[in-house]
Amino acid sequence: MEDRSNAPATVLIVDDDPGARLLLGTALELAGFRVQTAADGASALAQFHADPADCVIVDVVMPGMSGFDVCAALREQPDCWHVPILMQTSLDDIESVNRAYNAGATDFSTKGINPMLLAQRVKFLVRAKQTQDRLRESEARVRYLAFYDPLTSLPNRQRLLQILEQQVLWALPRQRGIAVMMIDVDNFSRINDTQGPSVGDGVLKEVAARLQRCLREGHRAAGEEDAHRDLSDCVARPGGDEFAVALPGIESTEDALAVARRMQAALAEPCAVAGQEIPLSATIGISLFPGDAGNAEALLKNADAAMHHAKRAGRGGLEPFKRSISTRAARHLSLEADLCKALDRGEFALHYQPRLRLTDLVVEGVEALLRWRHPQRGWVPPDDFIPLAEQTGLIVDIGDWVLREACSQARRWREDGGPDWRVAVNVSGVQFRDGTLISRVTRALAHADIGAQALELEFTEGTLIEYSSAVSKALKALKDLGVATALDDFGTGYCSMSYLRHFPVDTLKIDRSFVRDIGAKSAGNAPLVDAIIAMARSLGLATVAEGVETDAQWHYLRMRGANQAQGYLFCRPQAVAELERWHADWLHSDRLRAAGVASVA
Ligand code: C2E
Ligand code: MG
Ligand code: MG
Repeated sequence: MEDRSNAPATVLIVDDDPGARLLLGTALELAGFRVQTAADGASALAQFHADPADCVIVDVVMPGMSGFDVCAALREQPDCWHVPILMQTSLDDIESVNRAYNAGATDFSTKGINPMLLAQRVKFLVRAKQTQDRLRESEARVRYLAFYDPLTSLPNRQRLLQILEQQVLWALPRQRGIAVMMIDVDNFSRINDTQGPSVGDGVLKEVAARLQRCLREGHRAAGEEDAHRDLSDCVARPGGDEFAVALPGIESTEDALAVARRMQAALAEPCAVAGQEIPLSATIGISLFPGDAGNAEALLKNADAAMHHAKRAGRGGLEPFKRSISTRAARHLSLEADLCKALDRGEFALHYQPRLRLTDLVVEGVEALLRWRHPQRGWVPPDDFIPLAEQTGLIVDIGDWVLREACSQARRWREDGGPDWRVAVNVSGVQFRDGTLISRVTRALAHADIGAQALELEFTEGTLIEYSSAVSKALKALKDLGVATALDDFGTGYCSMSYLRHFPVDTLKIDRSFVRDIGAKSAGNAPLVDAIIAMARSLGLATVAEGVETDAQWHYLRMRGANQAQGYLFCRPQAVAELERWHADWLHSDRLRAAGVASVA
């Protein structure tokens, strides 16, 4: 629609009397309107069609078409549905007022009324129309937003479900099939993080365009009913970096796989957004009607489960739905629902595992490790629920609880005249990406009233690589705050030394898979552990060995000059009371005494 918000409103005067047109026209112009005139019904209709007015004033008594006919004919034009029409009756009787109303007039006045007064009346009518126009526009916008994604103009999840329901209604009596695919853009969050959201948006638009082109080019022989638009192939964006397609008329897994491969190939073509070459790939999960599910919701859910299953094999995967996937997805879903409530229900707890100085086995700090006590399942290990909490974003709130709880515990130890252990807290990439990590850390420290040096944050090498720009920003802020940082599970990712130079971490935690190698080979040497320690030293970083389980391992690590060790050999992660009991015993243990003697010697 043309934007007329600043232009003067237009009034069309339809009257066979030139004097009346002139008089009323002048009064309206004085009141600020733009005026159009027509001397008869036919030219009024043509005039309105060419340039729709905001209000029409029609004389009832005219040769040819009467004012009532003009009014009725105007109302037939969609452009005129909401335009106020004011009828001028010289016949001041109820019957013509009624006829005017039935013809669709908005208002009436008797002819001969002061034109200046009439112009004021028109102002009211036009303002009422403009208010209603705005209301209608915002309603249309709301309706659009409820069903379409504004970025790509594709149907959203809600609309996709409606379309799929229509397709199921079409396919069922005809014994036809439908293929539903969920398409996930691989590594999209990384593209968004490293290249910025505008490049991310560009990528999503490009993906939408390619998928649409791909389906149009490969369009199948359409049945006669396919004229109905819900029954043609549909590309939708149900959310985030996920797209979906619904293909009515596809019957077999082979045909669906062929289309999916074509889409993957189309997405893998070189893609340039804002002058940047972005490598693209997609993972696709497929479900088929009626074999895999009988309704829209379940078709989407199963395609989604298949897609997530395919994702586990890495990027660019493709997988049709299987029953075994569904049960796994169902278990996943119920765990997810419980995880949502776990925080409010107080089902989380922190256990602590000591970190010991390798030279004399004095405890210098502890790592806080999250535990979830599920009311039915019992203790759920972090490896089972942390990835889920990350996928759902719940990790941001859960991680905040961990931070506050760990800081409070650090405070309690300091208050009770206990040890001034530094507490290390694990944080996920999602928490970095969220952008609130620094303010949450600051708040947790302030709330517990402890210094920044009492806290350390651990994050994995994988996090560093996947969320590098967010991590880099946060690391600078943490350094300014005085909070130490450690790179967890080091050696399992692909961090190069040059990469590490750009990230001001303080400590590398040698992954336990390397520590396990110590003493496993006959020569007893662990060249990878040696290399990591040497690399850390050259970068000025401290080292912590994870998963130390044998005396041979800690002897070796001490000889090689690692700084701290953590592992079952000394202590398992445990609740505060047990940890304190362990520590009291530890202070009198033979191993500590032996270590102390050795370090003095
Ligand atoms: P991580 O940060 O590498 O933590 C060390 C893991 O190694 C812990 O597993 C610990 O129990 C285990 N471990 C310690 N010593 C030994 C040993 O001698 N031998 C063996 N085999 N294992 C040992 P846990 O508690 O199951 O935690 C697993 C992972 O879950 C953690 O790995 C960490 O990545 C994650 N996690 C735990 N708590 C949190 C949290 O609060 N937030 C986040 N984002 N992740 C957490
Ligand atoms: Mg850790
Ligand atoms: Mg670790």
